[in-house]
Order: sequence, then structure tokens, then C-alpha cells
Amino acid sequence: MYYSSTRDKNIKLTASQAVLKGLSDDGGLFVPSEFPKLSLSLDELSELDYKEIAYEVMKGFLDDYTEEELKDCIDKAYDTKFDTPEIAPLCYADGAFYLELFHGPTIAFKDMALSILPHLLTTAVKKNHSDKEVVILTATSGDTGKAALSGFSDVKGTRIIVFFPKDGVSNIQKLQMITEKGKNTEVIGVDGNFDDCQTGVKNIFGDAELREKMAKAGFQFSSANSMNIGRLVPQVAYYVFAYAKLVKGGKICPGDAINVCVPTGNFGNILAAFFAYKMGLPIKTFICASNENKVLFDFFKTGTYDKNREFILTDSPSMDILISSNLERLIYLSTGCDADKTKTMMENLKNGGKYEITDDMRAFIDDFVGEYADQKECAGKIKDLYDKTGYVIDTHTAVAGAAYDKYVKETGDETVTVIASTASPFKFSKAVLKAIDDKLPEMSDFELTDKLSAVANVEVPNAVKELKTAEIRHKKVCSVSEMKKCVLDNMGI
Ligand SMILES: *Cc1c(COP(=O)(O)O)cnc(C)c1O
Repeated sequence: MYYSSTRDKNIKLTASQAVLKGLSDDGGLFVPSEFPKLSLSLDELSELDYKEIAYEVMKGFLDDYTEEELKDCIDKAYDTKFDTPEIAPLCYADGAFYLELFHGPTIAFKDMALSILPHLLTTAVKKNHSDKEVVILTATSGDTGKAALSGFSDVKGTRIIVFFPKDGVSNIQKLQMITEKGKNTEVIGVDGNFDDCQTGVKNIFGDAELREKMAKAGFQFSSANSMNIGRLVPQVAYYVFAYAKLVKGGKICPGDAINVCVPTGNFGNILAAFFAYKMGLPIKTFICASNENKVLFDFFKTGTYDKNREFILTDSPSMDILISSNLERLIYLSTGCDADKTKTMMENLKNGGKYEITDDMRAFIDDFVGEYADQKECAGKIKDLYDKTGYVIDTHTAVAGAAYDKYVKETGDETVTVIASTASPFKFSKAVLKAIDDKLPEMSDFELTDKLSAVANVEVPNAVKELKTAEIRHKKVCSVSEMKKCVLDNMGI
């Protein structure tokens, strides 16, 4: 097993090298040369807890980590940082199972992978005898930033720089980031949208001259974005876990196919579900839910990916994305692992903002269905679910919930469905409360969280409580063209 680049088949790295590197120098993403199969039966898996399943899933992909190394990483990640020993509870509400992926330290699903990535990365540093300090560069649409900061905060041998769109995240998301205490952290607001941040980071990664300069000064880059295979692989685990829970709870029989519905931005989370399927997990349909930035909906419908459109700011900011980076991995697989062809398409995307796939490729991705929900439908779903069940979901999960309802209406498909619940509603209190009560008076962020606590009958998570008194430590703002300079300044080179 090795990892090659989606844009160059001659690149061959071990798993730990791929984790360490993050993104290939040619701008491609690392992909495994084969998909490992689950080594236990679905019945056997149903008896395991989260950490045990994580090990079963990850050992196949990260095959140059020893059992001891991998189990150590898993133990350090999925501990009391999560507010429930279950790690990812599965909650039934009004026709679907919500897989709650937001019980980690920053109350968004990014914690599922970013609580383990720093351990995978520092282990990779040791394994590969690298003597360089690892500089994590991250672009965030809101949730990755804090989850990455929290994961890498004061981790020896690393420093982390986070770029976020200065007007493109929620107040709570912003507060979470700019109050980060870690001494090795820097948080910078960018005068641009998420795509600008992500493209800026990708360009810095692709800068060969800069890499050389850094190497001389004792630094190397890595990525905490879902472009890093060390982010993607841990996410595969929770789909297997959800399936195991459904079997254990008698909701399905081992072997029954399920559907998954995922609120999608960068296409990492839903791709992890596809990886689980490739490992042998019975999944029938991948419902890819978008908000009004519905470039993926159009892509699955027409076979043309076209980002030439207005960028819309919505109440689900972590999905306000027009360039879904991880789609490149699916494109690559759909070409029959043809790196040259993938490279051409990605060049078309870069130059003209679009590319088209062939009929064969479309047949390969046939199990994906695009759906989308606009702001009104998303708010309607939050209210409807609350009125019917008392269960409160966040705005991103609501996009998936509304998209799922549309899918069922269109297809009549009654397959048991797992909806990825990607953030705690407390991260988006205002939009959630407004959806439930359109006469909501003006309130401060913390009045809103108290109110939501009363409405949802759920305690305010610590991650929000502690923001009340936290000191603001990061005030820097830059333009897109200044991002590289900020990185150089951080390293003092
Ligand atoms: C990041 C994020 C998403 C999108 O996930 P992708 O893996 O980028 O598709 C959806 N919801 C929330 C809350 C997120 O933080």
C-alpha cells in the first residue's frame, strides 16, 4: 500500500509520509493505491466501541504505523475531550438517524479528525526521522480553524497558522479562533471568502522556492485541511461506527445497505463515507447536500463542474464553498486512477473555472445524488423537526435534513438513512433560534446561547461557556496577496 498524487502517478509515499506532507507538491491530493477491506464481519464490528472501530478502520489505510503507535494516537484523541464516552451518539428523530459528530472540544465534526491528526503527524515526524519543525497552514470556513488550533495547540515541534474569511464566519466561530491561547498558534482574518483563503494556502504550498527557503531554515509545511489523508481516514471510522450501532440496536441486519446524507462543503466528509463503502460497508446512496452554493448539486445533475457563479453567504458558512477540494479524489477514482486526465481537469478548473466528466465517469459516481436546500428550507427543517420532536439541529445539519426530505419525496426511497450532524446548534444559536421563532428579539451572543439552552433543554457546552471571559489574542487582518508574507513573518524568514 502506498499513496500517490491525484496528478502524478509516479509519486509513491508511505502513509506516514503522506500525512506529514499533507498535499503533493504538484497540487494533487494523496490517494491510497488500494482500498483495505474491513477485517472483521459487520456482526463482529457491532460489538466494538468507537476506539476499537477507529483502529479497525485506520490500520488498513495507515499501514506503516505500528499497532502500538496507532492505538496510542487513538487513545490520546478520543478521550475526555469528548463530552460523551460514546464519542459519536446516533439519535433517531422523525424518520432519520442523526449521527452527532459534534461532541468534541470545539463542538463541530472537524474534531473527529483534528483531535487525532496532531498525534498521527508527530508520530510521522518520528517515524521518518524528520528534524524540521512542522508548520501547519490552514484555510478555514469556520470550523476547521478552531478544531485545528485546539488539536495542535502547544504540540511540540509544530506551529499552526489559520486563515479565515474575516466576514465569512459566525460570531461564535470567530471568537473561538481569535481567543486561542496556544503559544504556537497564529490566527489571521483574510479580506476575502473561503475559496480565496483556500486558494491562497494551496498557492503557498505549491511555491517551490518558498519550500526550499523554509527547508534551509528548518521548517516544513503540512496541512490540517481535509486535503490531508490524516484528516480523511479518521472520518471513515464514524460511518462504520454508525452502521455498527444500527446493527447493535436491531435497526438493520448485518449486510443491509443504508443511505448516508452529508451536509457538504469541501467534500471531505462525504468522501469518507465513500471510502467506508470501498472498505466493504454496505451503503446504497450518498446524498450530497449543498446550501445555496450548489455547485455540487449541479455537478451531479449535469456532469459539469462550474464554479463560475456568485458566492453566496448563508447561515451554514462552513458549506459556503465553490471549490470542493476533495472532489478531486473522487474524480481521480472515477477516471480509473488516471492522474494525467485528473490533472487536465484540475487545470481546466483553475484556468476556466470548470470541467466536464465523461459518461464512464458519471457511471462510476452513480451512487451519489446531489440535493440542496435554500435558507428558507433549512430554517423550515429546523422548526419542523423541533415542533415535532423537540430535537434541535444546527444550520448545516438542517441543510442535510431538508435535502434528505426532498430526496425521499422525489424517490420514495425508504432505506434507513444516517444524516451526518456536523455541528452543535450552539455554534449557530442566532440562526437556529430565528428559525424556531421568527419574532426573536435582538440579543447578545451569550443571551442567545442561554435561550437556546432553555429551548433545546440541553446544557450550554463548555466550548461556548468559556468564550464569555476569554481574552482576544489574535487581531491580525490581511489581504489575499499578503498571505504569503504573513507566513514568512511567522517563521521569521
Ligand atoms: C466543514 C463542515 C461541513 C462541510 O464538510 P466537508 O467535509 O468540507 O464537506 C459541514 N458542516 C459543518 C458544521 C462543517 O464544519
